[in-house]
Amino acid sequence: MYKIELPSDETPKEWYNINPDLPLELPMPIDSEDGKQVESLPIIFTQAVLEQEMSMERYIKIPKEVREIYQRIGRPTALYRAKTLEEKLNTPAKIYFKREDSSPVGSHKFNSAIAQAYYAKKEGVERLTTETGAGQWGSALALACSMMGIECDVYMVKVSYNQKPFRKTVMETYKGNIYASPSDNTEVGRKILKETPEHPGSLGIAISEAIEVALEDEKTKYSLGSVLNHVMLHQTVIGQELKKQLEIAEEEPDTYIACVGGGSNFAGSMYPTIKDKIDGKIDADIIAVEPSSTPSLTQGKYEYDFGDTMGFTPMLKMFTLGHDFVAPSVHAGGLRYHGMSPQVSVLKQAGIIEARSVHQEEIFKAAQLFANTEAIIPAPESSHAIKIAIDEARKAKETGEEKTIVFNLSGHGLLDLQGYADYLSGNLGTGAK
Ligand SMILES: *Cc1c(COP(=O)(O)O)cnc(C)c1O
Repeated sequence: MYKIELPSDETPKEWYNINPDLPLELPMPIDSEDGKQVESLPIIFTQAVLEQEMSMERYIKIPKEVREIYQRIGRPTALYRAKTLEEKLNTPAKIYFKREDSSPVGSHKFNSAIAQAYYAKKEGVERLTTETGAGQWGSALALACSMMGIECDVYMVKVSYNQKPFRKTVMETYKGNIYASPSDNTEVGRKILKETPEHPGSLGIAISEAIEVALEDEKTKYSLGSVLNHVMLHQTVIGQELKKQLEIAEEEPDTYIACVGGGSNFAGSMYPTIKDKIDGKIDADIIAVEPSSTPSLTQGKYEYDFGDTMGFTPMLKMFTLGHDFVAPSVHAGGLRYHGMSPQVSVLKQAGIIEARSVHQEEIFKAAQLFANTEAIIPAPESSHAIKIAIDEARKAKETGEEKTIVFNLSGHGLLDLQGYADYLSGNLGTGAK
């Protein structure tokens, strides 16, 4: 079987919440001043997602309207076998990949965007503000808000804004309002621009700007596309479908792989499988892959830090490179975040998952091999997972092991062609180590 599909009525009816199953207690967000558990979150987020954030219910019902939209725009996504890639590598390993690239917005991110926009609408919110790195989250939220009939303001990291002009067009087509961050809309932005007019921006700064706007207007709420528990939760539709599809294919993979920025793609595709590992039902390797230029999980410290640059957010305990870290301008813009989901951090700390980092040059090489075997031009972010899948398949060739490898193809790269162009012309630059 090269393609394993599920009928649309097999779209999950619930999200899986890993909170009650975490092997170590999840440290709570704290206030930076007094170190006490915070109360400042509520003003900026919708009530529904705040409840989900701390919920200890293992399964949370997906609202009917949200599930229907999932179905209408393509869920469940297919699982493919990368047979041509296997043959090219001449490996005894089998390689499967889950197709989140088939989402109309180009990545997995719509799974949470539509849930967040739905709750905002229901609570009478008129506008959501957010940040976006490479533009995938902004595209997803702009579409979700448009479907729900509310406004969407997107603060896009300036370097990506310049590198990816067509992302802006996508967001504007979906009726989003896009600002290059740092911008002069906010005090934070104006302050940074005054000190450093050529500042490339960072996700941390864009988050600060989006939060500032939400703090100032009652009808405006803030929406985050990664890191927090409720975002991980919404993405678990991917992993639940994946489990069913692997059962149909009669596979019990040895190795699971997904790329990580703030954690939502990894969490969403892996949590249902991680539950099986925590429960002792399987003993697979579960690998999170990040860029060597933003190595929070592999080289960061596990400590309390702010989610944004200015320190507006409460402090989260996570693997972090420091909230003032400005990542080099690599093309995998979606992975340039200084911190990591607190839940994913706990799983790493507990040794349930493994983390690896890869260099930008290697990911484009892997991406090109994938494009020429499986025909899909993958997102640079997703190519981190592809690179490790190829490494594992090559190892299997050496040992002769007939293992099964699965990775999540989190998005396509058709709006990342500048990265490909730079790679093909040998101009990726030295930005990334
Ligand atoms: C955003 C994004 C990621 C990373 O998601 P995180 O939640 O930050 O880990 C991976 N792949 C693609 C295509 C993305 O758009």
